[in-house]
Amino acid sequence: MKQFEETLYDAVSQQFRIDKLYFESKTDHQHLMIFHNAQLGRVMTLDGVVQTTEADEFIYHEMMTHVPVLAHGNAKRVLIIGGGDGGILREVCRHNIDHVMQVEIDQAVVDMAKQYLPNHSAGAFDDPRLDLVIADGMEFVRSTDRTYDIIIVDSTDPIGPGEVLFTEDFYAQAKRCLADGGVMVTQNGVPFFQPDELKNTHQRLQQRFRDARFYCAPIPTYYGGFMSLGWATDDRDLCKVSAEVLRGRLDQAAFSCRYYTPEIHAASFALPQYMRDILVN
Ligand code: SAM
Repeated sequence: MKQFEETLYDAVSQQFRIDKLYFESKTDHQHLMIFHNAQLGRVMTLDGVVQTTEADEFIYHEMMTHVPVLAHGNAKRVLIIGGGDGGILREVCRHNIDHVMQVEIDQAVVDMAKQYLPNHSAGAFDDPRLDLVIADGMEFVRSTDRTYDIIIVDSTDPIGPGEVLFTEDFYAQAKRCLADGGVMVTQNGVPFFQPDELKNTHQRLQQRFRDARFYCAPIPTYYGGFMSLGWATDDRDLCKVSAEVLRGRLDQAAFSCRYYTPEIHAASFALPQYMRDILVN
């Protein structure tokens, strides 16, 4: 039986059995695979790196979406950079928002995710509140004159087309697109194996935002323990919204989650010592 081997790191890798291959091709931007694994359900990889699996996608998509949206409390305009599988979009559309702009560089990721990972978007690509643009997120934030209450950067790792989304220039332009009181969150890797990504992002975000920090979530197929999610805003109180207030907002939003709870939200900003050490050394 064929195996998928993720070789994101030099000395360690993880393997998933390919029980059924749905799609494998080089797109205009990256190598895209979608296959079925008996344990994980359907799996998407880009350039040999696991992007999402049906089994654990709920953890990442709920934490990347509901933490900023419920902390903000009155988000109406959301910008998603990347996220071609549609999982973030699905979670965003559960909220009482007016408009969501999604800027994804690779049309093939959207097309193949719609076809082979339909549960990720769950119809959200047909939501009338969505504007989907196939473009480089860097070019979009550089050229748009619109602002957003929430910016969610659901990118690949800083390799290939995703690399530009971890630069000072991108963060500076994204800051320009953030409405007063808004917050940007970013996919920021697994610090246990990618400490430099945590340190570099922190240094770059600190230059632009009054409050640049991280929160965490454990995504089983993002190998290496806690994943760090970047948090950037000028409102220093936004990360301190109490679990009681968040509970009220979640009750008002009237939907249930499989990972997110107001208590997990509040606790997710407490970093383990090894991450704090990376940030100060
Ligand atoms: N959850 C995954 C993770 O944490 O690694 C990311 C999933 S999502 C599939 C990543 C998306 O970012 C892909 O669809 C990819 O095409 C998109 N992407 C990469 N670079 C981009 C860029 N410069 N502009 C817009 N989208 C980009």
